[in-house]
Amino acid sequence: HAKHTSPESICFYDAEIALEVRERRQMADALKTALEENELELYYQVQMTLEKPSGTINGCEALLRWTHPRLGVVSPAVFVPVAEQNGLIGPLGEWVFRRACADAAAWDTPHRVAVNVSPVQFMDGNLPRLLHEVLLDTGLAPERLELELTEAAIIHNPTRSLQIMRQIKLLGIGVALDHFGSGFFSLETLQTFPFDRIKLDKAFVDRIGHDRQSKAIFRAVLTLGESLGIPVLAEGIETTDQMELLRRENCTEGQGYLFGHPLPCSDAEGPQTQNLKVAHAGGREPSSLL
Ligand code: C2E
Ligand code: MG
Ligand code: MG
Repeated sequence: HAKHTSPESICFYDAEIALEVRERRQMADALKTALEENELELYYQVQMTLEKPSGTINGCEALLRWTHPRLGVVSPAVFVPVAEQNGLIGPLGEWVFRRACADAAAWDTPHRVAVNVSPVQFMDGNLPRLLHEVLLDTGLAPERLELELTEAAIIHNPTRSLQIMRQIKLLGIGVALDHFGSGFFSLETLQTFPFDRIKLDKAFVDRIGHDRQSKAIFRAVLTLGESLGIPVLAEGIETTDQMELLRRENCTEGQGYLFGHPLPCSDAEGPQTQNLKVAHAGGREPSSLL
């Protein structure tokens, strides 16, 4: 199952390492070339409903991959910030939207496709117009597209962010709150902004099984989501134990290596789980399933 090896495990950079100015400059140049030379790819990771006995695919998330001819696979956690700092996030983001919508429109199954949006790109002001154009060009139904936004995107100018978000929602496109629980978070945000989904960050999901405080907060978030009518998706699920725990807590959606690694899927088949059987695998070791 070589193709199931996680592409991110062969990343040559550590997101924690701050790149030097010269390195960033070089990377920005290389990224510009990458856009022109077709070195970028989108991988897709399935998003599941967690209901019993077997979960079903609810959609998938597009994750950007860059294979540099010399450096190998570079993580988006490294090159997206570089693109943001060098005025490249506009063209990069546009490429992602066009690719993701064209891919999704070609799938046999009408799955939803979720696309990550950089805060810089979100605040640009041109986004609603671009999205409208891309949907027309690709023929993708707007309700099949969901943007993944972080709180960082809206925190600096909430009024303007809300305007942009409303324009996007008027097009029929969904908006998810990504990285939730990874840092700053306010109830105000959830109340004011019409999010369609909350994505609980992996770091937070990992803590739920280990300390009571995290579990208590998790329950509060689920209750909040339920009363606001916003589904909560738990990210980074790697084991059946984690999945069972989330199910017991009535968390309805999940994503993670347990169901499938990000994979290329521009063919007509659309997103597939690598191990759908996992959903009713009971107490078996996840390693035997992956
Ligand atoms: P994210 O949107 O929170 O994406 C989830 C990340 O967790 C992805 O990393 C995914 O490969 C990884 N992941 C998924 N399941 C598991 C799991 O079970 N275990 C572990 N350890 N990891 C898991 P990736 O692809 O490296 O992306 C990192 C971040 O880069 C994303 O976080 C997103 O914020 C950003 N990003 C990715 N693609 C794009 C893009 O097209 N545009 C923009 N602006 N940002 C992107
Ligand atoms: Mg995301
Ligand atoms: Mg996320």
